[in-house]
Amino acid sequence: MTVDTNLYAFFSPDTVAVIGASATPGKVGHTIVSNMIEAGFKGKLFPVNPKGGEIQGLPVITDIADLPHGLDLGVISVPPQYVIPAIEALGERGAKSAIVITAGFKEAGKDGYLLEQEIIAMSEKYGIAILGPNCLGMMNSAHGVNASFAAGHPTPGSIAFFSQSGALCVAILDWALGANIGFSKFISLGNKAVLDEADMLDYLNKDEETKVILGYIENVEHGESFLKAARKTCLNKPVIMIKSGTTAAGAKAASSHTGAIAGSDQSYSAAFHQSGVIRVGDVASLFNLAQAFSSQPLPKGPNLAVVTNSGGPGILTADAADRSRLTMAALSQKTIQRLQKFLPSYAAFYNPVDIIGDADAKRYRQALDVVSEDPMVHSILVLLTPTASVEIEQTAEAVIRMARKCGKPVFACFMGKTRVAPARKLLMDAGIPCYAFPEPAVHSIEAMYSYYLWKNRPKPEYIEVNRDLEQAREVVREHMRRNQPEIVEFEAQQVLKAYGLPTPQTVLARSSDEAVAAAEEIGYPVVLKIASPDISHKSDVGGVKVNLWNATEVMKTFKSITAKAQRMRRDAYIAGCLVQEMAPPGVKEVIIGFKRDEEFGPMLMFGLGGIYVEIMKDISFKLAPLSRQDSFEIVREIKSYMLLKGLKGEKPVNFTALEEIIMVMSRLAIDLPEVWEAEFNPVLVNHERAIVADVRMTLHLKDK
Ligand code: ADP
Ligand code: MG
Repeated sequence: MTVDTNLYAFFSPDTVAVIGASATPGKVGHTIVSNMIEAGFKGKLFPVNPKGGEIQGLPVITDIADLPHGLDLGVISVPPQYVIPAIEALGERGAKSAIVITAGFKEAGKDGYLLEQEIIAMSEKYGIAILGPNCLGMMNSAHGVNASFAAGHPTPGSIAFFSQSGALCVAILDWALGANIGFSKFISLGNKAVLDEADMLDYLNKDEETKVILGYIENVEHGESFLKAARKTCLNKPVIMIKSGTTAAGAKAASSHTGAIAGSDQSYSAAFHQSGVIRVGDVASLFNLAQAFSSQPLPKGPNLAVVTNSGGPGILTADAADRSRLTMAALSQKTIQRLQKFLPSYAAFYNPVDIIGDADAKRYRQALDVVSEDPMVHSILVLLTPTASVEIEQTAEAVIRMARKCGKPVFACFMGKTRVAPARKLLMDAGIPCYAFPEPAVHSIEAMYSYYLWKNRPKPEYIEVNRDLEQAREVVREHMRRNQPEIVEFEAQQVLKAYGLPTPQTVLARSSDEAVAAAEEIGYPVVLKIASPDISHKSDVGGVKVNLWNATEVMKTFKSITAKAQRMRRDAYIAGCLVQEMAPPGVKEVIIGFKRDEEFGPMLMFGLGGIYVEIMKDISFKLAPLSRQDSFEIVREIKSYMLLKGLKGEKPVNFTALEEIIMVMSRLAIDLPEVWEAEFNPVLVNHERAIVADVRMTLHLKDK
């Protein structure tokens, strides 16, 4: 839903009622009231309970109808059967928003599901923004709001966090308090009956207190609104998310957990990647990145400089950088000469700059000044191992000083724990992310650089596809009428034509004589393929023969193919054979396809064809519509991209031709919603052109 105006009242309420407030310590309805009080809430707080009396010094309201009109936020913690009446009563009093803490809805089975539908209906009827049900609540520390039953209050900060798991909220809150991490907003989404991640993104995008947005989600139900919100938000501030349920076991746990049916993982990866969301695999990375993004400017290029007092960790860092999108900066001649002036002769003057185990804070300071001034350096990582002579805290001071001066992103990796603890605190307090090991440091810098690239990427361009939509739709309609879900090659030829896709010259021959005539017309060699609406995997019935060089071969093959197919599929109607122009030797086979994802719509895929698809599973994915840039990327993202680029003096395939076909396929997927899956397999490509040599489509029939 989009209730932006209401969400201000939701996050920064002046009037809050706790429905189901309790005088008994330990009860949820008691904790919420005390949390609000302890958070320093400055507005009016109304405990509501039919029993009346007083709770924590506040007079209890016995009836929701007695609350002031236009209440900002109602926090509901009553048994499930009383939730709907409570929302209704709040609605009647013109309340703007509500949190349903109570569990026992969608996650609890059919009855709960139906009850949750009523929450949605109430929200629509009264225009109330509702968080939950089955959630921990929400906190906005800067505004003195802790409308949750969590233990502890986050300190104010610039990181917003939302989570579909309440348990994770509890754990993270506790951890963050220990790690001294502050939050701008802290939200437990629960079942997302009304408010979901898209609403959070829309609001947090505009929230001035929030610099970085973190999210943990198990599924996205409204793919389109998520993509829209994510795209917009990511242009403005970084969004870092974990999507769980990536493994089959995880997906199963997710569906029994919040009643969420996890979508396929590739579609999430594609959705995140295309909308600019930074996806991480674990909670540690979530916060590593959050700290980096919230405190340092983005690196404006890939070149990383490392200053270290030890060799091994320096090499580890260089290795990690090598595996990433970053490069170890090549320092300028001038920089190296300047370093040589004060570093011992046995130091390493090239990146990583090793200033040797006996380095004191002064040597660090001098080296950092020189390295950070090199214009080829985009980001700096300072490594320190706590040797006997190193001045740990003074070095931290030197790092802080340099970071303030140079305007480039600076990161520290002070290895170890006890001895470096005070220095780490100094650094963190000064806004310099400090890691215990090089790899997470490099990962953070890489993520920031990738985000920089994404933010500054050219505006997506989409091509116009000239097509005869009516002709394509007629093929689909015809199959719907026949209740035939598979559109096989010989019938899908019409669709290819309608979209102007490049195909080998193809003729349907109903007899062997027609086949010969067609072959003579096309020119040898030709390919013969079985043409039957009932046979979509032609090779399985021996229905494809390539490399036919003369009339006799064509004649013979026509007869043998049709006879064999009829033998193997007795019920199949055999229309004849396709006679097809044979692609020249040396072409490569690729597959271009799409499948329709439940949440995110059509998802295009690209990979090498033939054995590679099945054995290597070397496929890349993107959601439709694909821009020029997306198509450029999708063909380059597969591991076997090098094979297409050509080995040993081979010419590269015509990538532009492939990209065109992919963009047309993307258009087709959007044009024809009844087509559930489609694939061009193979598309045959060489350095000159690409042709669609086979096509198959699957329809989504209503009664299926
Ligand atoms: P299937 O229904 O079995 O997928 P295809 O039409 O894809 O049938 O043909 C099977 C294989 O035959 C293709 O993967 C490709 O290697 C080869 N082939 C098909 N058409 C041609 C063609 N026009 N030129 C060259 N090879 C082809
Ligand atoms: Mg095929």
